[in-house]
Amino acid sequence: MINSLRGFRDLLPPESDLFTRIEAAAREVFGLYGYQELRVPTLEKKELFVKSTGDTTDIVEKEMYAFTDGGGREVAMRPEGTPGVVRAYIEHNLGQTGRNGKFFYIGSMFRAERPQAGRYREFTQIGAEHIGNPSPAADAESISMLVRLLEKAGVAGCSVVINSLGCAECRKAYREILLGYLRGRAEKLCEPCRGRIERNPLRALDCKTDGPWLAQEAPKLSLCPACETHFSATQRLLGAAGVAYQVNTSLVRGLDYYTNTVFEVRSSALGSQDAVCGGGRYDDLVKSMGGPAAPAIGWAVGVDRMAMLLKDKPAPDSAPKTFIVAASKEAGDKAFALVTAMRAAGISSDFSNFELSLKSQMRSADKSGATFALIIGEDELKAGTCAVKSLKEHGEQKTVPLPDAPSTIQQLLKASSEKPPNP
Ligand code: AMP
Repeated sequence: MINSLRGFRDLLPPESDLFTRIEAAAREVFGLYGYQELRVPTLEKKELFVKSTGDTTDIVEKEMYAFTDGGGREVAMRPEGTPGVVRAYIEHNLGQTGRNGKFFYIGSMFRAERPQAGRYREFTQIGAEHIGNPSPAADAESISMLVRLLEKAGVAGCSVVINSLGCAECRKAYREILLGYLRGRAEKLCEPCRGRIERNPLRALDCKTDGPWLAQEAPKLSLCPACETHFSATQRLLGAAGVAYQVNTSLVRGLDYYTNTVFEVRSSALGSQDAVCGGGRYDDLVKSMGGPAAPAIGWAVGVDRMAMLLKDKPAPDSAPKTFIVAASKEAGDKAFALVTAMRAAGISSDFSNFELSLKSQMRSADKSGATFALIIGEDELKAGTCAVKSLKEHGEQKTVPLPDAPSTIQQLLKASSEKPPNP
């Protein structure tokens, strides 16, 4: 027997229903904010991620599924969505031909991390990118859309943390200050940080080992007046949109391309892997990848972690409304036509195997959680009718002509949904 790979999982019902529900909520919210779907490949040239996500990031340095394909090409399974979206934006000249620079994606990402609860090697992200708008209103809109999406999907109890990493100029000055500070404390740093401080001193702030103490002790970045104005306008607009947030000057995101506003959404209900979503501005990325100057902002939310937060809530009723049962092979043909007619009328319906005994089919009907069983026995077959039996309540069975079955069920379902709940 062949098992799945470690860190790669099967999404079984009912958890797969949660994913569908989250994705449907996301699509609805994206529609309200004018975002259109962009589907980009899962496999790209490796250099796309090396150049954009950054060669000193954990994702690219340690976790990427990168390999040489049969044709000798260096390729990688995408570890995140932004680089592919930016590549597509440049390749298809979407700044000119697109509607408004607002794109969303939904799909698998791949990272060879150590698997644990909430951390998988293939996981699903929903992401949003708004390319070409430098205004703080774009930042506030992006973050408030994310909060709306979490609410719409039913995820509660999350907190939004924001910070500003400044522009390239602010960072240049800070890089030198931080580098001087880190060089003087190299012996206190973990091995990987020591190895990369000269190449990317800011990464130490995001390191799982050194980040916490550096957040307390290292010198802080100071923003230039323009970045300060942008950050305070973003906060003002978040307030106007009614979004609750906290500023945390220790928040540094692990990818190279972020500038100005960065943010994370966390949930204490998740345990050690508490991040639900991460994002920020990347004003220089499109240009640095060979495109036009196009300031941008985006985020990616982890659907697996959202689903963990929804797990305890009752799943939407996915049981069929009707279950069709037939007493003989001949009745089975009529029953199959009836299942088809019910579904055509918009009533979810199922059946098991018309060749099995009535008793066994009724057991399957009970197990399915259906509201009604529609039974075609010998008498019904002769009369061109079916018996309607409630599987939820005791009551009289009634018989209806086959052509009337869909409208009868619709009426019964309507009546039961209007009935006040039992005291
Ligand atoms: P990142 O791109 O690392 O900021 O990730 C954005 C979001 O994706 C995180 O907040 C998580 O919800 C989710 N995520 C990242 N890595 C994993 C993983 N290995 N397994 C499951 N979800 C993940």
